[in-house]
Amino acid sequence: MKVPRVLVIGSINMDLVSYSDRIPSLGETILGNRFAMVPGGKGANQALAAARLGASVSMLGAAGKDSYGEQLLQHLNNNGVDISRVKRADTSTGVALINVDARGNNQIVVIPGANNELAPEDLLQNREIFEACDVVVLQMEIPMATIGQAIELASGYGKLVVLNPAPAHEIPEAWLSKIDYLVPNEHEADLLGHVKDDFYFSIRRHLKKSLVITQGAKGVSFSEGKTIVFIPALKVQAVDTTAAGDAFIGGFSVALAEDRSMEEAIKFASAAAAISVTREGAQTSLPYRKEVEEFSG
Ligand code: ADP
Repeated sequence: MKVPRVLVIGSINMDLVSYSDRIPSLGETILGNRFAMVPGGKGANQALAAARLGASVSMLGAAGKDSYGEQLLQHLNNNGVDISRVKRADTSTGVALINVDARGNNQIVVIPGANNELAPEDLLQNREIFEACDVVVLQMEIPMATIGQAIELASGYGKLVVLNPAPAHEIPEAWLSKIDYLVPNEHEADLLGHVKDDFYFSIRRHLKKSLVITQGAKGVSFSEGKTIVFIPALKVQAVDTTAAGDAFIGGFSVALAEDRSMEEAIKFASAAAAISVTREGAQTSLPYRKEVEEFSG
């Protein structure tokens, strides 16, 4: 089988997580219990997911010239993601500052930093990488103009475009006819639906191929012409659902790049996502291809 080639264009963040009994009030200083520094960003997570699932993955994104940037790129490289075209910006690397209390409630500040520096021109300078891939994967943690440029270039080269609209944001109508697969989770689909009353009809009609809605432990629905097909999730003991969506997008993109049918692609992606929820963490939970093949029998 040919090696599937996936291009991911998106965010690269360091998550700085503080665990304390409670979240401090304004002006208060408290002592916490534990600290963790974990690689994140939806773009990086999905790139790593696709690489572990057997694709040749290139990433376009931006990181700062600081030590977080160094560590994150090293980590992606160690996981087989080609980071040679990632931009190094003069701004700080993207970070998420996360406070978690004893009950698991959290409070998060995301500082996009370098992610906001990925400009449309950076993509135009890397046109050849669009030409050399099968599938282009996007999320919404980089500037809108850059996402628009990516969709333009990818569809111009006749490549499959997968957009994961996370975090939820209004999608310009002009993009829809150039997107093959729009893949929100239920929550994002609801938010998009509120922006456009006739979301399910209008978006589905404009998309090149399908609206795929992931529905957590229930499963996944996708549109096929005027009908909706539902594929139930695999039954597993869920431990931590962080990055389930990223595992799904990674698996879905790899299967599409292998020219698999829609149903096969959803099943492969669902298996990868199901394995990820049985494990703690974000990137640490993302499975390797062999594990998905064994799991699916
Ligand atoms: P997100 O992680 O973006 O919120 P979802 O919660 O919809 O997205 O999860 C993405 C996919 O992960 C689901 O469509 C499903 O295939 C899989 N998944 C999520 N939670 C579970 C679960 N508890 N058991 C099995 N599969 C799950």
